[in-house]
Amino acid sequence: MSPKPERLHGPVSQPPAPPQLLGLPGSLLPTLVVFPRSPAGEQEDSMDRKETCLRVVVRVRPLTCQELRRGDQRVVHCLGDNTIYVNAAGQEAAFRASAAFDAGTSQEGLFEGSGMKRLIELAANGFSCTAFAFGQTGSGKTYSLMGPLAQSEGQPVTPYLGGLMQRAFVCLLEQTQCYRPGLVLSASYVEIHNEQVRDLLSPGPPRPLPVRWSKTRGFYIENLLTVEFGSLEAIMDLLQEGTRRRRSAAHVLNRHSSRSHALLTIRIHRKALSPDPSSCQQGVLCFVDLAGSERVKDTGSAGERLVEASNINRSLLALGHCISLLVDPRRRRNHIPYRDSKLTRLLAESLGGSGITLMVACISPSSRCLPETLRTLRFASRAKKVTTKPMAHRVSREKLLRSLEQEIQALREENLSLRQQLRLPRIRGESPATHTPPTQLPECQGESRAPGQRGAPRRAPGSARRSLSGLLQDFVLENEQLRRWLLSTPAAAPAAVLSGQPRPPPASAPRYGPPPARLAGDRTLSA
Ligand code: ADP
Ligand code: MG
Repeated sequence: MSPKPERLHGPVSQPPAPPQLLGLPGSLLPTLVVFPRSPAGEQEDSMDRKETCLRVVVRVRPLTCQELRRGDQRVVHCLGDNTIYVNAAGQEAAFRASAAFDAGTSQEGLFEGSGMKRLIELAANGFSCTAFAFGQTGSGKTYSLMGPLAQSEGQPVTPYLGGLMQRAFVCLLEQTQCYRPGLVLSASYVEIHNEQVRDLLSPGPPRPLPVRWSKTRGFYIENLLTVEFGSLEAIMDLLQEGTRRRRSAAHVLNRHSSRSHALLTIRIHRKALSPDPSSCQQGVLCFVDLAGSERVKDTGSAGERLVEASNINRSLLALGHCISLLVDPRRRRNHIPYRDSKLTRLLAESLGGSGITLMVACISPSSRCLPETLRTLRFASRAKKVTTKPMAHRVSREKLLRSLEQEIQALREENLSLRQQLRLPRIRGESPATHTPPTQLPECQGESRAPGQRGAPRRAPGSARRSLSGLLQDFVLENEQLRRWLLSTPAAAPAAVLSGQPRPPPASAPRYGPPPARLAGDRTLSA
């Protein structure tokens, strides 16, 4: 155990007073951060390419009513110097973290003390940043990230109880609205359920998405939706909608247990001011709400829940294995088995690449959870020795365009193949190679929106002045529609199109934001 917790994240400068921001709840405003700028206006960060340890903070949740009723002993205590002290019959252990938060810590206290603000700052400066919550089921992971969102049955979370995610959204939006109008924010949201990656923002029944690897992008999710947002209301709607679709279930330890790992990725896309105006910068801020490890005899899982539990435990085991190898300097040079699970593939960049990572280890203070608590603390101790080499992502315009064209070509080929299977005509006058984007289907002609998104749509899908990114979005949209037709009513779909019968647009059709996320070729978790 190190004598002093490492200080990875430097102080953040505070502005004199928060500006007036439309639509941002007052109770979240005092967290305002101003990011430092160089005289040239370009963001700089001393973090670039410097070996950096994972920052690990520990949060102890309060005893629940059930635990209090049962008379469980409180066996975990936070000492003043970021030490977590565990004392139960016959067992005594102390762990040192970068920060430790006891049961009385408010959500704001966690945000202020966890280093989250610094992570946001780095993401806005082009780094790939990840905050993930780890711990036993029912230990407070989802609560720390999102507040009591999962339990609120569609009701928005009181700002006071908002978790790291909501507070981070506020911070980022402040930046775009007040200080850096050039920033464009977009979000994607997926879950890994039973080793399948599913898009939580895409309409219709969830469909597994493939995780692929490329030399330039690392592991990425193919055909992932990215939705642009510009207000707290819009991103909160996306979060609420996606979380509603996420698999959760009740068991003995948690009435709202998440049965999947969820990854919400915010992309911060910014045109560089200098020195090269033809390049753009892309930062990533990814929140990972892991499903908790569980001992089946404690949770009483059976049937489908049992399958989920074993998949969750297996992927967490793979995560633990990768971390063990990463902290060993000799073995680190060899192969790290990221491919053992979807979770480790998508976290590869955050753990061993050029990302910057904050881990919030959540534990229960109850004597009944002691074995799992000790396991989480040991995992946290190992994780804080993991190092990455952060690197800000700059992508040249040419590279961006090339990557965009490649993606469009792949989607174009898929579109042709789907149309052939559905016996749909190719667009008139088009050769297979230059087949123009979809938008010919009745479903694509209406204006569509992402789930929960409000306000005027950004772009009419049929617009003549279609940019490459617009083209790509249209292909994604139509291919999604065609795939659904193929799966549901293979015979009826083409007939409807051929007869030219317009159909109403689907109620919750997504609106695809510009896809910087999928195009910049940056090595991010889910790029
Ligand atoms: P996990 O995601 O780790 O399975 P949850 O975040 O769902 O656990 O939390 C389990 C229960 O404990 C929920 O009812 C939640 O509201 C409550 N809880 C967790 N952490 C806290 C906290 N810091 N303060 C108050 N309640 C909490
Ligand atoms: Mg949870």
